[in-house]
Amino acid sequence: MEQSINIVQSKNLFERAVRVMPGGVNSPVRAFKAVGGDPLFISRADGAKIYDADGNGYIDYVSSWGPMILGHNSAAVREAVVRAAQHGLSFGAPTEAEVKLAEKIIEFSGIEMVRMVNSGTEAVMSALRLSRAYTGRGKIIKFEGCYHGHSDSMLVKAGSGALTTGQPDSLGVPEAVAGDTLVAAYNDLGGVEDLFKKYEIACVIVEPVAANMGVVLPVDGFLSGLRGLCDTYGALLIFDEVITGFRLGKGGAQAHYGVKADLVTYGKIIGGGMPVGAYGGKKEIMEYISPCGAVYQAGTLSGNPIAMAAGLAQLDALESGDVYRHIDQMCEKLANGMSQIAKNLGIKACVNHVGSLACQFFGIDRAEDYQSVKNADTALYARYFREMLAAGIYLAPSQFEAMFVSYAHTEADIDETLEKAERVLKKMKIEGSL
Ligand SMILES: *Cc1c(COP(=O)(O)O)cnc(C)c1O
Repeated sequence: MEQSINIVQSKNLFERAVRVMPGGVNSPVRAFKAVGGDPLFISRADGAKIYDADGNGYIDYVSSWGPMILGHNSAAVREAVVRAAQHGLSFGAPTEAEVKLAEKIIEFSGIEMVRMVNSGTEAVMSALRLSRAYTGRGKIIKFEGCYHGHSDSMLVKAGSGALTTGQPDSLGVPEAVAGDTLVAAYNDLGGVEDLFKKYEIACVIVEPVAANMGVVLPVDGFLSGLRGLCDTYGALLIFDEVITGFRLGKGGAQAHYGVKADLVTYGKIIGGGMPVGAYGGKKEIMEYISPCGAVYQAGTLSGNPIAMAAGLAQLDALESGDVYRHIDQMCEKLANGMSQIAKNLGIKACVNHVGSLACQFFGIDRAEDYQSVKNADTALYARYFREMLAAGIYLAPSQFEAMFVSYAHTEADIDETLEKAERVLKKMKIEGSL
């Protein structure tokens, strides 16, 4: 089954790309390094499907890494973008569209004020600065396996030894910067409390559902426990809802889990496919930001009218709640189906899912934190990925990413995906790679 598709154009484009861009890509995971083979170059997408440069179509579960909650090429979003583009692309001055999107985000999320930026990375970076300014403290806590974009203080891994400060997790991140980040284990409240006892903490930043190490759900009491610790020790709680925001329902993870954060970061879905991020929270905190307050943060293209139009059209489409009913139902069917197939074939695997996020981990039977997740069988996933791709199913090119179900995924798409998954896994079993 593998290699049965013609990907000549993609191969040609990749050859050209590696000459002019590092690794041939503008974001590392796109290069297929974790799964082997050359990346597909995509020429267009519509509904649940993406099409490569050779014209092959695939049912897509990457959804541009989350933004395309309505499916690809949504008419509502596209038309809003075209309408906005007819009035000019950028003004560097306030526009009505920014006010409307801010009002909509506030209405959905229950936060009080919001500042638009251009990416999730920027949203997180700015929220961290704000939390330090507001608390007058320097140290921040993040969790192992959570991703918060590529700013220096978030590319940090746990230091060696208990309760030590973090270390750079990328070349070029200064040790001094990494040392202000403390890295705790996801779902381990006790570890967080120990850090609070030892250090003066400005904030705890967490993905309320960890969706960048596959999908790992918060155990009961974890998020509310963080809320409690932050209150006790006078630190801010930051929910990084760049993935969960407007995906786990209109109110995001805050509403889904009934825990309020002090600051929330958004991205992905709020741009409808355009480059956007945002951070927001209580008015009292947000008014520390310039020009109200003394925390400087700015952006030439922040609140760009085209991006605002796309985001607003997408959030409007989420208004009725119908989208959530559908995507949650389709994801449930997908997750249950994948579990059942593995069980029937006697394959060791576990499937985590919530809302329209899912991940099948091979080779482990529980995935509750980074330590458990990193034992997953990545070689097996890579093989599965390549076979599924050849069968017309586009999964994330890494074991440690989520599957995103969109409003365009139909019951027939899910059935087709499950049939193919079963066929692929059976074949792998017969060939002895399982
Ligand atoms: C994608 C992501 C980011 C970074 O957003 P970019 O727009 O890629 O900079 C931050 N946090 C989380 C949880 C993400 O998934």
